[in-house]
Amino acid sequence: MEQRTARAADQPSGAARPGCGPARPHDGPAVPVPDAADARRAIPRTDHLLRDPRLSPAVDRLGVGVVKAAVREAQQRARDGGIPPEQVLQTALALLPGTASGLRPVLNATGVLLHTNLGRAPLSAAARQAVQEAAGPTDVELDLATGVRARRGRSALAALRDRVPAAGAAHVVNNGAAALVLAATALAAGKEIVVSRGEMVEIGDGFRLPDLLVTTGARLREVGTTNRTTAADYAAVLGPDTGFVLKVHPSNFRITGFTCSAETAELTGLGVPVVVDIGSGLLAPHPALPEEPDADTQLRAGAALVTASGDKLLGGPQCGLLLGDQDLVRALARHPLARALRVDKLTLAALEATLTGPPTPTALALTADPVRLRARAGQLAETLAADGLDVRAVDSRATVGGGGAPGVTLPSAALSLPGPYAAALRTGRVPVVGRLEAGRCLLDLRAVPERDDARLAEAVREAGPAGKGRA
Ligand SMILES: *Cc1c(COP(=O)(O)O)cnc(C)c1O
Repeated sequence: MEQRTARAADQPSGAARPGCGPARPHDGPAVPVPDAADARRAIPRTDHLLRDPRLSPAVDRLGVGVVKAAVREAQQRARDGGIPPEQVLQTALALLPGTASGLRPVLNATGVLLHTNLGRAPLSAAARQAVQEAAGPTDVELDLATGVRARRGRSALAALRDRVPAAGAAHVVNNGAAALVLAATALAAGKEIVVSRGEMVEIGDGFRLPDLLVTTGARLREVGTTNRTTAADYAAVLGPDTGFVLKVHPSNFRITGFTCSAETAELTGLGVPVVVDIGSGLLAPHPALPEEPDADTQLRAGAALVTASGDKLLGGPQCGLLLGDQDLVRALARHPLARALRVDKLTLAALEATLTGPPTPTALALTADPVRLRARAGQLAETLAADGLDVRAVDSRATVGGGGAPGVTLPSAALSLPGPYAAALRTGRVPVVGRLEAGRCLLDLRAVPERDDARLAEAVREAGPAGKGRA
């Protein structure tokens, strides 16, 4: 917080960001300053520091604003007596962030595989590499063989169609919500979208799909009740005003008990397009998640269009997938609104590599063997306990999260630490986000790749009583 305020004051542009270094305002011993005024005079000046060969490379790497903000923060600490003036330069160096972006990489030890606040799906190494390569000029819309303009993102779209054989065509937009908006605008503006009362979903943070749909100029025609909607309920309201029937996967809640809902196959014979928002982006059935709908099955059942997110169970970048009837998808892709929702080359690169590359971190987390997770937790707890920390390995339950597989829990294993670790770990040099349960801080390993175990252990040590980063 302190650093945020300092940054805002220093750099109205918001470009500067000193807050990512290991040091913190209370770091290091408070040095007694015999003559505060002398000490203040000895604080090196900003222009001197920026020209120092130890700092000047950072100006090229991060931009002068970011470096200046780190320098000012270090100078302030010296003025406040927190560090001696001769430590200003090394403190500024320590305060420099790893990149010029304010986003900090964190370890997701929440036990929620797709945590929306942590950016949902982590990209695979293949996708990261593809993003890196695509960052410069690319042939995203150019056929290099002929030198003429080509279909934007054609190889990503081909990869998507390869994975969903039942789709006649595919299109990609900015996110799942955008996919729905495009479908509603193109197919139902001024008309009705017929939807079950049991599928009027709030997707999170106060955003509700019904509200989103009516912004397109479509009217919602609700049918059935919260717990029961039959195919006959839909059939009864269809007419010339119908734009399409919408099926929405209740991806973040479950209604159980006296319930019934119409299957896609029961609705596709009614003479209007059926659009299915499957949410989580499974392209084909997943053995571990038998109740989660997938694109291929829905299209085979006769859906005209399936919409989904790219950064949920598919394990890719944020994007929205539109898969289905060839003419319909092509018409959507040519709609004027499509231009406002289109994705950039980085997304296309990451999506294609996700589709064609090795299993994603999300897929690996989903299928991780609980026996292996317990062994990892045991090993980590043993080494950390040997360092004198109050830590033990415990069994845990992980969830899919991010709008997928509601009610499903996956057996997992965690490190259990005293509650105050939660905040110390979150604000450490390598931030770790765990969860609090019965006053203990649990670090669930299911969403933590095994190769990060050493980093996790190090972060715990630093957050502990002997660690420098103690909050
Ligand atoms: C997640 C979700 C959405 C929204 O997708 P975003 O990619 O977050 O825009 C829409 N519908 C369902 C059923 C979802 O699960």
